[in-house]
Amino acid sequence: MIRLPRFQYLAPATLKEASALLRDEGPDAMLLAGGTDLLPNMKRRHQLPATLVSLRRLAELKKVANGSGLALGAGLTLSEVTKVAAVKEKFRGLYQAAMQVATPHLRNMGTLGGNLCLDTRCTYYNQNYEWRKAIDFCMKIEGTVCWVATASKRCLAVSSTDTAPALISLGAKVRLVSAEGEREVALESLYRNDGIDYLSRKPGEILAEVVLPQSDGWTSTYWKLRRRGSFDFPILGVAAAVKTARDGTVEDARLVLGAVSSHPLVIQVKGLLVGRKADDEIIEAVGNLAESRAKPMDNTDMDLRWRKRVVADFVGYAFRELRGDDMSAVRMRTARQSL
Ligand SMILES: Cc1cc2nc3c(=O)[nH]c(=O)nc-3n(C[C@H](O)[C@H](O)[C@H](O)COP(=O)(O)OP(=O)(O)OC[C@H]3O[C@@H](n4cnc5c(N)ncnc54)[C@H](O)[C@@H]3O)c2cc1C
Ligand code: SF4
Repeated sequence: MIRLPRFQYLAPATLKEASALLRDEGPDAMLLAGGTDLLPNMKRRHQLPATLVSLRRLAELKKVANGSGLALGAGLTLSEVTKVAAVKEKFRGLYQAAMQVATPHLRNMGTLGGNLCLDTRCTYYNQNYEWRKAIDFCMKIEGTVCWVATASKRCLAVSSTDTAPALISLGAKVRLVSAEGEREVALESLYRNDGIDYLSRKPGEILAEVVLPQSDGWTSTYWKLRRRGSFDFPILGVAAAVKTARDGTVEDARLVLGAVSSHPLVIQVKGLLVGRKADDEIIEAVGNLAESRAKPMDNTDMDLRWRKRVVADFVGYAFRELRGDDMSAVRMRTARQSL
């Protein structure tokens, strides 16, 4: 059994108190939400915070507000997110992404905020301390070299959150709160293409809320590739959303890939889709474009060339589903559940 390192545990009751504690404890403090990623990481000595500021008691992070759009508190567990009627009915891509994170137990503990701030992953990093010590560590922590690409000047660890691509494709913003004030930013801009410094969140900021715009006319979907249908981190996530006119003409479109880069990868597809009906030829072109942009590295499960090749297939499944094709048989084959 691997033991947790020693740490101080603080459990504030309000967002204001939590922000003040985070400021006062400084860079040695980290936020703890469900702990499903952070606590295993601490056991493996990836992160060694002297203090954990828990968000579990913060009722402010549990709110759901359904008005002109939909606001979801970052402290909602993923199970709670999937039970919000508006998520299931209007933001299908988010529902499908949250439903495919880990296992029911982990979704009952893991939060939306924790999922969005999830550490990047890599075969050479997600190992215990002794394993990493045997290879003299790597650039992400304690070492100097990137074993995935030894000439690389930056860490190429993979963004592995399922909900971030889905939420970006839905045009989500996030509210970040600190002792100094608060700001709202597009979720897309929270991420950096850097396996170490993967968030633009400032050290004292707490992700308090996710804000979704009105879904009028939009439909969305999320397709996930992983080895086991029961649970596994994504080795490809495809989040697609389209706004379609009554006659089927695409008015707006978004496509975001997960797990092929250190950040959720936004692919500009408007030029191919807007003003047209998504016929097979256009969908194939969108798939080919996405495949050409995806740069999976040899640092997660399965062969990287195969992972790149299937991008076009998965993008095709997503857009065919969005134009109304019955994709349930393919969905059952890939996700092993109806979503
Ligand atoms: C076996 C296993 C399988 C998994 N499979 C998947 C998977 O398929 N897909 C997937 O996406 N994830 C997966 N996970 C990872 C994890 O369970 C989820 O991402 C979960 O949603 C993380 O949320 P949490 O509340 O537990 O985060 P925590 O572990 O508490 O925190 C994660 C990180 O986010 C920071 N943080 C948490 N909340 C906030 C906040 N409000 N503001 C700012 N920073 C914050 C923490 O400081 C920490 O750095 C898996 C984990 C395990 C153990
Ligand atoms: S991508 Fe390179 S630097 Fe980053 S965790 Fe993997 S081996 Fe380490």
